[in-house]
Amino acid sequence: GETVALSEKSPSEIDAFLQTQRTAYDRLVTQGLKLDLTRGKPSAAQLDLSNELLRLPQGFTAADGTDVRNYGGLKGLPELREIFAELLWVDPEQLVAGGNSSLTMMKDCLVDLLLHGGVDSERPWSQEEKVTFVCPVPGYDRHFTLLESLGIEMVTVPMYDDGPDADAVAALVKDDPSIKGMWIVPTYANPAGSVCSQDVAARLASMPTAAPDFKIFWDNAYAFHHLTEDEAKSADIVKLASAAGHPHRPLEFASTSKITFAGAGVAFLAASPENIAWYVKHLGTGSIGPDKVNHLRHVQLFKTADGVREHMRRHRDIIAPKFAEVQRVLTERLGTQEVATWNDPAGGYFVNLDVVEGTASRVVELAKAAGVALTPAGASYPYGKDPKDTNIRLAPTMPPVEEVTAAMEAVATCVLLAAAEKYATV
Ligand code: PMP
Repeated sequence: GETVALSEKSPSEIDAFLQTQRTAYDRLVTQGLKLDLTRGKPSAAQLDLSNELLRLPQGFTAADGTDVRNYGGLKGLPELREIFAELLWVDPEQLVAGGNSSLTMMKDCLVDLLLHGGVDSERPWSQEEKVTFVCPVPGYDRHFTLLESLGIEMVTVPMYDDGPDADAVAALVKDDPSIKGMWIVPTYANPAGSVCSQDVAARLASMPTAAPDFKIFWDNAYAFHHLTEDEAKSADIVKLASAAGHPHRPLEFASTSKITFAGAGVAFLAASPENIAWYVKHLGTGSIGPDKVNHLRHVQLFKTADGVREHMRRHRDIIAPKFAEVQRVLTERLGTQEVATWNDPAGGYFVNLDVVEGTASRVVELAKAAGVALTPAGASYPYGKDPKDTNIRLAPTMPPVEEVTAAMEAVATCVLLAAAEKYATV
């Protein structure tokens, strides 16, 4: 096997290595694979864990006697809010249970901030000359496309193992009043896998901002999505910000999309009582109430917060072997080559693979030609532009484990060939 790192090989060794990788790749192409590691979707086996929902609810009466079939109750069913308030450490009064998508709630908040301004705004954001968001990278592609579609500019900061670079964020927001907010996926980030530490969260909650109405979009999509028994605790941003004198700064989002049904779950918003009243007021101009039948179904499925925790362990049992397989193949095939680094996330839905600079798009192109669909290179950066062309997001939850193995073997072959091509030309 190869034991000398590519950077230490002589030109003739690199030529020989390139030939070996070309042969391996040609063999791969003849296999005619058809595999997909692109999106973080739950597998059918994971969706099956919640099939009881298809037979629920039993009855249609909520704890307080409300007929869930009828209109009303904009904040969502109280007993469902109680369960998720416990999980997110907020008061149930500070939690809205809504429709099936937290991303839609994020969009609603942004649109309301643009059209109406927030509870602490001097004017609607759309009346500002410019609105900018701080975006930790790599990050979630849909956050970036949403901002782009609304004309909100983006400035990036690095994502570290303990969350966004808090010094960089603090320096940006201190003097520039056009910077109105930031994204963060605090727990098992998409795609970096990192967990925002208590310390970083406290700094984000308390840092001085030139904009009086600065908002942290705290997208806790993977709050309960542990892959190991060492279950990370998200920082409690709502309390931290309140204690720091900025109670209206955070808007925390979560959903059951990766807990029950990705397309038919329940989304949540947690924030200060004033922010919740603001959100519900604007929501009420376009809705007479959420799908409380779905809320009641979810209450009857989980029963308690512990019911949710137990349910997440069943997810873990299904997907942890797939993540282990990604690690095994990457380590065996690339471990000694110095052509890639990657993380071994303790939760969430993604593995973040960094390949030789300037080769990520080539790897994705090679994989595509070999029948393996990968997320487009650069997707985890605003405007789809990874300045170093190094980052690839791998999503192993959806395919069966044998397909994860085959796809990762193919990815490794493509990473090696792209690296060999690059070294051979320098
Ligand atoms: N936020 C993040 C970080 C995500 O990864 C996803 C799903 N891939 C979402 C939000 C979407 O959540 P929902 O289904 O609740 O709209």
